[in-house]
Amino acid sequence: MTKFSELNLNPKVLKAIEEAGYESPTPIQVGAIPPALEGRDVLGIAQTGTGKTASFTLPMITMLARGRARARMPRSLVLCPTRELAAQVAENFDTYTKHLKLSKALLIGGVSFKEQDKLIDKGVDVLIATPGRLLDHFERGKLLLTGVQIMVVDEADRMLDMGFIPDIERIFSLTPFTRQTLFFSATMAPEIERITNTFLSAPERIEVARQATASETIEQGVIMFKASRRDREGSEKRKVLRSVIDAEGDACTNAIIFCNRKTDVDIVAKSLKKYGYDAAPIHGDLDQSQRTRTLDGFRDGSLRFLCASDVAARGLDVPSVSHVFNYDVPGHAEDYVHRIGRTGRAGRDGKAIMICVPRDEKNLADIEALVQNEIPRLDNPLGGAPASEANAEKEEKPKPTRTRSRKKDTSENDTAVHASPEPSVATEVKDTPDDKNRGRNRGGRSRSSRGGDREANNVVGLGDHTPEFIGLSFKERCAS
Ligand code: AMP
Repeated sequence: MTKFSELNLNPKVLKAIEEAGYESPTPIQVGAIPPALEGRDVLGIAQTGTGKTASFTLPMITMLARGRARARMPRSLVLCPTRELAAQVAENFDTYTKHLKLSKALLIGGVSFKEQDKLIDKGVDVLIATPGRLLDHFERGKLLLTGVQIMVVDEADRMLDMGFIPDIERIFSLTPFTRQTLFFSATMAPEIERITNTFLSAPERIEVARQATASETIEQGVIMFKASRRDREGSEKRKVLRSVIDAEGDACTNAIIFCNRKTDVDIVAKSLKKYGYDAAPIHGDLDQSQRTRTLDGFRDGSLRFLCASDVAARGLDVPSVSHVFNYDVPGHAEDYVHRIGRTGRAGRDGKAIMICVPRDEKNLADIEALVQNEIPRLDNPLGGAPASEANAEKEEKPKPTRTRSRKKDTSENDTAVHASPEPSVATEVKDTPDDKNRGRNRGGRSRSSRGGDREANNVVGLGDHTPEFIGLSFKERCAS
């Protein structure tokens, strides 16, 4: 088995790795680090959980350890699709550069331009950014990309989904032709293939297992649910969710609850909270400090239920999530794989339970076709048939111990649920945590067209290489 010490990394980087508790490099690291250190372009087909972030940060730091940054001319650039991913990459840099003097700036929406300008003016070695925010800075004349020696594109397939490809192409064209490119994507859609053919030069291609397809530790189930009346679907469905959570008992230490729409993320979080569950929402319309707080709380265990949209939660690294609840069947089958991949990580057990209403049965069939398995049907813990209308009304009300005003408490059957029109597809696409106005989906690719790319055959994952340590949270690991 390859050791970190054999990879030619800077000794100070090796020290930081050791302190982070990593015993040996993961397959994507073994594959990507040597060619990256040789100055070659890398095309990594890997998703979160494989150690891909370190596979580009470690060689970058090693290469940047020599030389100095110039004002407004970052020496390297990492592009991430969402604010959360960008912040996660920045955290990784902090961990691995702790014994080196490298400067970095994080350019994401929701943070004041002034602070970010100050850092850029001083000169940074590493600039981590979402595409829209980066171009905003560029257009304000605050930033020059002609000094970029290394450029990383992380989660390119997500960039494509969010309509950022035109921005990525523009950013590529603003950086020097001689730059080194490290490009990562979970899948290789034709549009991604086109970009890599255009902007990468003879890249070393490394492919590792999609974590969710590799993980057999996730127990899955679906509850087929039909509301007693269409206008009661929201409240009855939330009731089913609560009873599913209750039925899991203590085994459910923490969970991510996925909804398809941002409005439902808010409604479900609010409803759970009202019923005494420790829940908070995360989606692109919340301000950055609130999102950061919520995520930190979920990571450190002080928040038990994270209600999330796909975009906000995708790629987030929370090592131990016991349950994923799909409050909605995702509209794109591949999102199911991503969602349930949040649990059962690194060899741990996980459970993924979904609620399916009749109009989502077609989407359920698509998911089953994709995962090539029937998802076991589970009994509705409420007892098969949906609650009668009278019962629903009665049981829907929270226990009287809560000290809230009557007016607010009745909101569970809330008008918001029924009065708010279903958001259009455009609204869903708009669920971008960052760069909202920029993503235009100009690539025009249908997401379902990805099916053919998803089967990775000759691939390996963390597998037996997974060190015990990976089970700890990022912070725990850094502290130890
Ligand atoms: P990523 O795929 O970059 O999201 O990383 C997944 C998790 O694996 C992160 O929490 C990393 O800190 C951790 N990790 C990365 N490389 C290693 C390694 N070689 N050994 C143990 N943990 C690792």
